[in-house]
This record gives sequence, C-alpha cells and structure tokens, in this order.
Amino acid sequence: MISEHDDEARLDARAAALATICVHAGEGEGAFRALATPIVLASAFSFDDAEHAAAAFRSENDAYIYGRWGNPTVEALEAKVAALENARVACATASGMAAVSGALLSICEAGSHIVAPRSMYGESARLLRERLPRLGIETTFVDDPTPESYARAATVNTRVFYIESPSNPILAVSDVPGIAAAARAHGGKSRIVVVADNTFATPFCQTPLDLGVDLVVHSMTKAIGGHGDAIGGAVCGNDDALVARARDTIVKGFGGVMSPLTAYLVARGITTFALRQRQACGTAARLAKTLAAHPAVDKVHHPSLARDRAKHMHAYGSLLAFETKDPARAKHVLEHVALVTRAVSLGDARSLITQPATTTHSTMPREDRLRAHITDGLLRLSVGLESAVDLERDLLAALSETT
Ligand code: PLP
Repeated sequence: MISEHDDEARLDARAAALATICVHAGEGEGAFRALATPIVLASAFSFDDAEHAAAAFRSENDAYIYGRWGNPTVEALEAKVAALENARVACATASGMAAVSGALLSICEAGSHIVAPRSMYGESARLLRERLPRLGIETTFVDDPTPESYARAATVNTRVFYIESPSNPILAVSDVPGIAAAARAHGGKSRIVVVADNTFATPFCQTPLDLGVDLVVHSMTKAIGGHGDAIGGAVCGNDDALVARARDTIVKGFGGVMSPLTAYLVARGITTFALRQRQACGTAARLAKTLAAHPAVDKVHHPSLARDRAKHMHAYGSLLAFETKDPARAKHVLEHVALVTRAVSLGDARSLITQPATTTHSTMPREDRLRAHITDGLLRLSVGLESAVDLERDLLAALSETT
C-alpha cells in the first residue's frame, strides 16, 4: 500500500536528483565569463581565412558558420535538455510540432508505416491521419496502446512505434518499456525506431530513453520552458546518427530552427524546472483525489490513479482530466472557474483548463474522438504553481450547482 507520505518522498527524491542539473547543465563561463548565457543573435559567423571556412564546411573544426546550422545559445539549451532526459544529444527545434513532424520525416519515406495510439495530441494525430499519407506514409492507430497491440499492428514496412504517454488529453499511460521491447523483437525489413512524445510526463516523471525508447520528442513550450512565453521543441536521443538525421531534416532542411532568444528563455525556465514540477505534481495528485471523491464527477484521469500501468514513471505529473456525470456541468465548471484560467496549452505557472473536444482536439473526427475517450464532458486541467488550497477551493466552487 503506497501512502501519501511515500508519494511526497518520491517527489522530493526526484526534485533532488534533477535540481543541480537544472541549474548547471549547459551553463559555462564562456564569452565574457557571463553567468547568464549570452544571447548570440548573429545570423552568420566570420572565418580566419579561406581554409578555416573550407574546413568548417568539411566539419573539421568547430567554427560556427550560420545560425540555422548552429548557435551557441541554442547549443547551451540543447546540453541542458539532453542532461534532463539522460540523453547523449539533443536538438532544439522551432516548436513541438517541428520536433514531432521532423523526427518522423527523418526516419520515414514513401511506403513506410507507423503504429501510434488513437489517443494523442490533436495536431500530431492530424499529421499522421492527413498529412503523412499524402507522402505515402501510413499509420495504424491502436485503441489500447499495449505492446501486444503495437506488435499486432506492425507490418514488414513498419519504421516507427510512436508513443505518447501519458497521452493528451486523457492521460492514458502506455507500457513504455514493453512497447520498446516489442519493437526490438519485430523482424521487419528494417529496425523499428521507437519515438516517444514526453511532453505530458516531462523528464521529471519519465525518462523514456532509460526504458528502451530511441528518440524523445518534446514541446518545450510546455512545462520545460514553464512560463508560457516561448514556443520550442526538442528531439533527444543516445544514438548520435539518429539525432543528427533529425537535426539535418528538421533544422537544416525544413528550417524549423529555434531562435537564440527563445533558447535563452527556455534555458532560464529550466533552471527552476525541478522545483516547479515538484510543486505542480504534488498539487495535481491532491486535486485528482479531491475531484475523484466529488459526487458530480464521474471519472478522473491521472497516472496516480492508474499506478499499475505507471510503474515505470518516476512521478505522476502535473496534468489531469476529469469528466462530470452530466456533460452540461463541464461547461458550468469552465464558465465558473475564477482562479484557473480558460486557455489551451499546459505546463504554465498558471493553472489552465480547457475542453479538448471543442478546442485542442476539435479537428479530430467526432467518431475518432469518442474512440479515444475524448467526450464532450471531458475537461483537461494543467496544474500550475498557485497554492493547492486556492486551486481546490476554486474547482469545488465551480463544480457546485449553486455557483
Ligand atoms: N505534443 C504534445 C503532447 C502537445 O500537447 C503539443 C501541444 O500542445 C505538442 C506536441 C506540440 O507542441 P507545440 O505547440 O510546441 O508545437
């Protein structure tokens, strides 16, 4: 029996494991011995002479050439994110979607096949359902993302097992190590690369590369940046060649480069990442319990309530979703929260609430939405850094019929 005390101790231990990395990884005393990483806005860099330039283009020295190919501020952020994910290398991208689409396009070609969960971020689902098929890349969506269903859906042409766990918006938890093992066991034309979107878990709660995943993709717009003021993404991995291919495709080829100013903001956000996650995850677990006990609430989705499935996670995360017994009450909640902000996005310092069916997942056909358990009465809550007591009071008041 796991007690609340054990959960709190786990959160403290995870925060302690990451706190120093958050402050020091990627931070050097380079130019000017500046303690804050300098924001290098130059779009191009100079060479000593013709041979210095030619050698740079042959990758025989480490001279910077051009901002889309490399920038010191962006590299400092990449080192920080790689350290958090326990990755050898990371590539920062213009957005989370640049990371998702670019990682997949760096692996797949016409004729390739992907297996993915039905419940996932709406725009990623749309990429797989509408955009990639136009390039001859097909996806099979599995309703229950177990290792067995991934293995059953795989064909000789399968190149990617795509994981999003916990998933957006219903926080479905997949057996990440099991799916990675199923990929290794598959005997197709070429090896299956396992790509996991770790945006919802964040490296505070889950480190997929330690579980056999090949590439982790992130929207750093969310809890990694953490302040709702920067759009960015990342691809992380231990296989240099895989990450280099992703970088070549996304950043060099498609131009999905992160700006140095954004890199600075995200890196500064990471400085407090462990502390922020420790606080937000603790509050989310408390709110999940409170909501689960409320008579107007039908179901609460939070990994702390599905512990068997979430055994591979370090912690349970700062996002939760809940369904009211009467779907009309969900609208009532949305209209009556006063402290929690009605907005999409997540991982902000402010708590944010949204109705996925009419916002983030509105482009998903209704039938697919319902198969992914995204009902009209489902609300997604991203827990921020406000006081747990204040948030609880706000949600309970909004749930009350008399409010
Ligand atoms: N992955 C997940 C799970 C998301 O929730 C989102 C955005 O909400 C993205 C990827 C895309 O991120 P971005 O908005 O930074 O492109």
